[in-house]
Amino acid sequence: MSDARDPTQFDPVVPNTGEEYEPLEVFPDDEDFDLRPGADSCYKCSTCDTNCPVAEVDDDFPGPKFQGPEQWRLKQTDDDYEIDPSISECSNCLRCDTSCPSGVNLAQMHNTARGEYVDNQMSKLSVKYIRNRILANYRTSAYFASMFPRTANFFMNFGPVRWAMEKVLHVPSEREFPEFATQTFRQWWSERGGAKVHSDDKKIAYFHGCYSNYNTPEVAKALVRIYEHFGYEVMVPPQKCSGTPMFANGMLDDARRHAETNVEELTAAIEEGADVVASCTSCSMALRNEYPELFDIDGIDDLAAHTYDAVEYLRIHTDVRQELEAAEVSGELEEEFAYHAPCHARNQGLERQAIELFRDLDGVAVEDVGESCSGISGTYGWKSEKYEKSMEIGSEMFEHMEESEGTTGMTECPTCASQMEHGTGYEVRHPLELIEAALID
Ligand code: SF4
Ligand code: SF4
Repeated sequence: MSDARDPTQFDPVVPNTGEEYEPLEVFPDDEDFDLRPGADSCYKCSTCDTNCPVAEVDDDFPGPKFQGPEQWRLKQTDDDYEIDPSISECSNCLRCDTSCPSGVNLAQMHNTARGEYVDNQMSKLSVKYIRNRILANYRTSAYFASMFPRTANFFMNFGPVRWAMEKVLHVPSEREFPEFATQTFRQWWSERGGAKVHSDDKKIAYFHGCYSNYNTPEVAKALVRIYEHFGYEVMVPPQKCSGTPMFANGMLDDARRHAETNVEELTAAIEEGADVVASCTSCSMALRNEYPELFDIDGIDDLAAHTYDAVEYLRIHTDVRQELEAAEVSGELEEEFAYHAPCHARNQGLERQAIELFRDLDGVAVEDVGESCSGISGTYGWKSEKYEKSMEIGSEMFEHMEESEGTTGMTECPTCASQMEHGTGYEVRHPLELIEAALID
């Protein structure tokens, strides 16, 4: 027999030294060690930096790699580390999060860092903080404005008022305030007597968000009619803001208060057999991605698992595609549309849904105007110091819209819609309005 050891006798678990040893304590403080997925997965490829629209137009912005994983590491190693103020320059478009090949959760890192910066380092008496708090709580302003919509519409765009707002609050006078509807969606819903279709097994709970309630109830009404056309019982639970503008402004306590109501009300609807659909892609993203990343509320994971964008849900659960192939649009919406996919739709993998859905619909043409960010990012473009940057980011989209055949815009995001209108003068419609025009008499 040779001197070689019998491989079947080798136990790889037991070190073959014959000596006793003490195990090494690698992480002495391991209970506090943050090993959440993605926190340490950055391999510095810089893909996020090259996809950041703010970094593209602002040489002083350090970019998402610094805002996310690098700052995160600095926080892990230095308890006194202060968040870099440049976190306020991030628009929360999430293009970095969407593009990272290593699954680093940049959205969660940015939102957490921004929240810490606002809580601990920003003066609560500064004009910026007060202005940002007002912008982030749009639902509150819209609630009061909707009590006197005609008066609000006049005053919000009245020259001297806008001049004063620019001087005092630094809200750019170039922007047009969105009009408030004379009847909110919820008023219409209540006047209508609620759902017209009842079903034991096909129910959706509609998260309309602030904009479809106060500014564009036609989108919300289209959703109700389309879902009823497909035999769904529509529920409209009590709800607050999704929190999207609060995340973007670092107001995490405000966002949490709203999230608590939304989670409670929407999970109650889920228990009754409903799935949750939202007509704004930023709202669906908040409910299914940002809530579970930032908060620990009973039922939050259940809500995330049952939340969909309204068009996405129709494509999964109904014959909408086949019905549209056999339909034709005539009248007001017999048009060519310049379609912009919102960054938050991209983050959910929904950027092609409108193009694919309307491809074979007679009477219309829908052209994708490309991958660029609109630049508005909710409240970002509503700040004087960011207005020029916002327009520079949006310039590629404006150009592509103007080069396309269409003279009407289309998108799922209401603030992208306002930027598209502002940059081109085009009227902008929601895909749900086109589905309604094609399928509902
Ligand atoms: S894309 Fe992801 S892995 Fe690459 S530098 Fe950015 S965070 Fe790191
Ligand atoms: S969220 Fe958008 S603006 Fe902010 S760092 Fe990421 S890509 Fe840049």
